[in-house]
Amino acid sequence: MTAGDKLFARLRGRNSVLALDAPAMPALGLHLQLDHLGHVLSIMGTLRPLLAQHPVNTPLHTLLCANSALSVEGAPAQWQRHGLDLDFQGAAGQVLHTRGWMEPEDDGWALHLLDITDLLADRALAQQREQNHQITGLISEQLRVCSLSRLPQVFSEHLRSVAQRWHIPCVAMALLDEEDQGWRIYSQYAAHDAPALWQTGQHLGTSLDSINGNTPLSLDIAQGRSDNPRLHSVFGNADGFLVPYRDSQGLAAWLLCGFYSGQAQHTGERDWLNLCAALAAPLLSRLREQRHHQQLERVEALQGLLGTGWWELLPATQEIQLAPQLLRNLSLEQGPTRQALGTWLELIHPADRQALNSRLQDLQALGKPLLTSVRLQRTGAEQAPLWYRIQGQVLGVGNDRRWIGFMLDISDIKNQQLQAAAAHARLDNLIASSPAVIYVQRYVNGALHPAFFSDSLTPLLGWTLADCNHDTLAALIHPDDRELYFERSRHLLREGNVRSRYRLRDKQGHYHWLLDEAKLLRDDLGLPVEAVGLWLDVTEATLAAEQVRQSEERYRILVEDSPAMICRYRPDLILTFGNTPLANYLECLPEHLPGIDLGQWLSDEQRATFVQRIAQLTPEFPVSTAEISLQLPGREHAWWVWSDRGVFDQHGTLVEVQAVGRDNTEVRRSQQQLTQSAKMATLGEMATGLAHEINQPLNVMHMAVVNVLKRLERGEVQIDYLTEKLQRIDAQVQRAARVVDHMRVFGRRSEIEQQPFDPAQALEGTLSLLSEGLRGKGVEVRISPADFSVQVKGHVDQLEQVLINLMVNARDALLSQREKNPALRPWIALHSEHDSRHVRIWVEDNAGGIDPRLLERIFEPFFTTKPIGVGTGLGLSVSYGIVENMGGRLSVSNGEAGAKFCVELPIVQA
Ligand code: ADP
Repeated sequence: MTAGDKLFARLRGRNSVLALDAPAMPALGLHLQLDHLGHVLSIMGTLRPLLAQHPVNTPLHTLLCANSALSVEGAPAQWQRHGLDLDFQGAAGQVLHTRGWMEPEDDGWALHLLDITDLLADRALAQQREQNHQITGLISEQLRVCSLSRLPQVFSEHLRSVAQRWHIPCVAMALLDEEDQGWRIYSQYAAHDAPALWQTGQHLGTSLDSINGNTPLSLDIAQGRSDNPRLHSVFGNADGFLVPYRDSQGLAAWLLCGFYSGQAQHTGERDWLNLCAALAAPLLSRLREQRHHQQLERVEALQGLLGTGWWELLPATQEIQLAPQLLRNLSLEQGPTRQALGTWLELIHPADRQALNSRLQDLQALGKPLLTSVRLQRTGAEQAPLWYRIQGQVLGVGNDRRWIGFMLDISDIKNQQLQAAAAHARLDNLIASSPAVIYVQRYVNGALHPAFFSDSLTPLLGWTLADCNHDTLAALIHPDDRELYFERSRHLLREGNVRSRYRLRDKQGHYHWLLDEAKLLRDDLGLPVEAVGLWLDVTEATLAAEQVRQSEERYRILVEDSPAMICRYRPDLILTFGNTPLANYLECLPEHLPGIDLGQWLSDEQRATFVQRIAQLTPEFPVSTAEISLQLPGREHAWWVWSDRGVFDQHGTLVEVQAVGRDNTEVRRSQQQLTQSAKMATLGEMATGLAHEINQPLNVMHMAVVNVLKRLERGEVQIDYLTEKLQRIDAQVQRAARVVDHMRVFGRRSEIEQQPFDPAQALEGTLSLLSEGLRGKGVEVRISPADFSVQVKGHVDQLEQVLINLMVNARDALLSQREKNPALRPWIALHSEHDSRHVRIWVEDNAGGIDPRLLERIFEPFFTTKPIGVGTGLGLSVSYGIVENMGGRLSVSNGEAGAKFCVELPIVQA
């Protein structure tokens, strides 16, 4: 049976009831009498006045609207068994919907019809509702299941379909903005021929609050041009229609319809509310879900970043549930999120476990909030401890109570705290034991009052803050420094900082030198608040500085008053300082010495040697001593024994030389005189030899003269004979003259400066003076001629003097030896040799040598074995000095036949 048949059955039933009651009442509905051709004979019934007037005997279909005329084509007999739905044209132009049936009558047909306008309207409404319901269900469903990212798009599509279906030109969904509590357009749609009233994301402010209807489930419909001026701002001049949506939290959304009066057919308030709810409820829920999701993500990220996580105590099972992040942080990834409380407590360091457990009990039993820091039990002993802050509280009451908290990794903070505490303790300790006091002075009415001293005050000075208050502090300052202290405070207040130095008495009555550095702190207005400062005990440094000053003064006096010459000069020999004795020698004032070139008094050669010697100074061997000779202004040669000490920088470069000098001129001169006397003595000693040396030519000359005279007496003088004799005489004269000449040269004083010369020269000179005399005494002179030529440095006459001494000594020893042993055939051998650096001249005799016990002593001055008046004991000692002065060495040993002297001299490059 179709819905239409049911209705029909119901109408028929009702009609049968009406038909029973009918005789007394005007018939309900419309009753038409028709003839067999279907022409209307009469019209009766309650609906009759509603029909348009028609002439009698018109065909039925002329009364009907076009669409229902079809169902009455043909003759009434054909319509009999059908339910007829006929729409009549009403008198006022309206349509009269009827339903009925045909019944045969005696002379025609009776058509009974009932008004079904309401029924149809109801059905249409129900159908509409059904469709609406389906649509809203679909919308809700799709909004619920779509992905969050597509939500805005899906929503906007639904909004459009709603607008199109309900013919709303302009529609929007306004939501309460979580952040600023105003209303905001979430999504909007405007038909292409309608101006857009709203923009997505547009702020509506609080304008929609004012129509917050007091009837929560009733539909609020407001005209755009309502009394409410706020709505005017939302809708402008357009007609408007608003549908609210309320959820558990109150008014949460508005469906705004613009250019729309809300008079849509078949859509009731309820439908509007449902529609709005279908859009808003899933949207809000999805948005909340999104927010929740974001919130959760944020919280999770935060927990991960902080190394933190929540926990919840489950007392019923004695378990604890931990956030996954926390599990990870605690390296319990494998474990379940629920842990036995005991297992969890095992993670805590035993030192903190007991305390934590008892606090957890307090939390459960007394609801006392938990806040504690604990260390984790770590296996690696060398690792720094892991610190966690555990905080917990009770949520809810009664049976709904929950025990929730978090664990936060505070190792960084804790370890820093521990380090800071340790550093602080060290600093405190340092300050307490250092010779420094930190103080604070408070500014009170223009004065500075001591307000704080660091703990180091008492160990340092014996005072406490009470002893050093504003009234007493000044009295503790040394009377001589008080004015200084007052000035210090004035300066501090004026300039904002100060640095001064004064003495302060300690408890024992001793004064300490304090270096005071202070800074003034001001408030926002620039007014002084307090001074923070530091006292540094510089007593030792001050006393040390004073001692240094005194000792410097002493040294200055020492240097000034020293008879020795003291100076400092640069490596280029420019003086930077010189004392009075040096200035006296150089004939100027001490203050004029700096800048003077020390080398200007040296000969070029001396200067070169001097600079070379200085250049050899090193940090390891910084001292060098030498005798230098100078040509001083207005004086003859001066000899200084000069000791230099190099001063080097950190790179080992010579920066300065400090020198001490002593005038050695007198000693030198005595030495020269001694040498000279010795030389003269040598000459004296050589007198016999020399007489012989001169006698020999005289004898030769004498013989020549006698012979010539004899010939002259006999009268047999030939020119040739005479010439030959005279030439012989001349040769002898020249020979004697040479000897005398050389004696004169030898007797002269030596030159001041040493010169390079060939030692063979000295040998030659020696032999020229001695060889003839020796031969006369029967001493053989054996000479091995030197086939080389080298240069030594010194004075040729002095080396000659040495060789003469050695040969004269040998002669004396030989002659005295021959006295004892007349068979002795005395000889003196002269021999020279050289290597790359030295030349050696050997003087050897066969006089039997020197008593080994005396070998050590023979170079001593005045040592002689000769009788008084004969030996001076100076010969060897002077010779030693001469050789040494030439940089060489004189030595002796006993050879096979007698003494063997060796003169060793350094070779110089020519
Ligand atoms: P003097 O010749 O005036 O005694 P010297 O200093 O020249 O003084 O000599 C010191 C001493 O050395 C001599 O007295 C002598 O005893 C000893 N002497 C020097 N030369 C020889 C020598 N060739 N042989 C032995 N003794 C010597």
